[in-house]
Amino acid sequence: MLIRCGENLPLVLAVYPRANRKFGAALKSALSFRLPTLPESVLKPYREALTQAPSVVVADLRAYNPCDCLGHHHSPGAQSEVATQLAQDTPGSVGEIDLAIEAIRGWEPRPISSLAAAESSADEADLRDVRFQTAVLTVFLHELDHLTHPTRDESTVRGESDAFYVAALDCALSDRYGVSFGLETPATA
Ligand SMILES: [Zn+2]
Ligand SMILES: [Zn+2]
Repeated sequence: MLIRCGENLPLVLAVYPRANRKFGAALKSALSFRLPTLPESVLKPYREALTQAPSVVVADLRAYNPCDCLGHHHSPGAQSEVATQLAQDTPGSVGEIDLAIEAIRGWEPRPISSLAAAESSADEADLRDVRFQTAVLTVFLHELDHLTHPTRDESTVRGESDAFYVAALDCALSDRYGVSFGLETPATA
């Protein structure tokens, strides 16, 4: 599945087992739907990663990783056959990441119960959807950050993505329910 994130942003090629079409749909809704709704203030930390990213990003989507990680970025020497072939066939640069979609679904850096203010105005299934979409976007941007800044250390990249998750979730919930949930304290994962 080819996913366009927007003008001047990388083209994403989502690769997943045929039976798991929903993995592709999850990434598509995060990138084509959630990403464009975010204000520049929230996206700012990733502006550089987004504009300097490889022109095509292969996203290998699986349910879980054997190491329990939510995702990885693949160094040029460790790319899949799909990414290697694509790099030979396309003029632009090609990067590759993997995302463990079901692990991301279960990732709860901030339990729903902590969103006390949301309980009165949101139903739990809807909250879960918004959280999942935001989490998929967060892990994607985290790995994109690694791809474009290979020497940046994990704690810096992680600090940035934890802060992004909180800001993006607050933004998504405010859009949806017209209230700010005041999630400004950093998430602990
Ligand atoms: Zn791992
Ligand atoms: Zn990382």
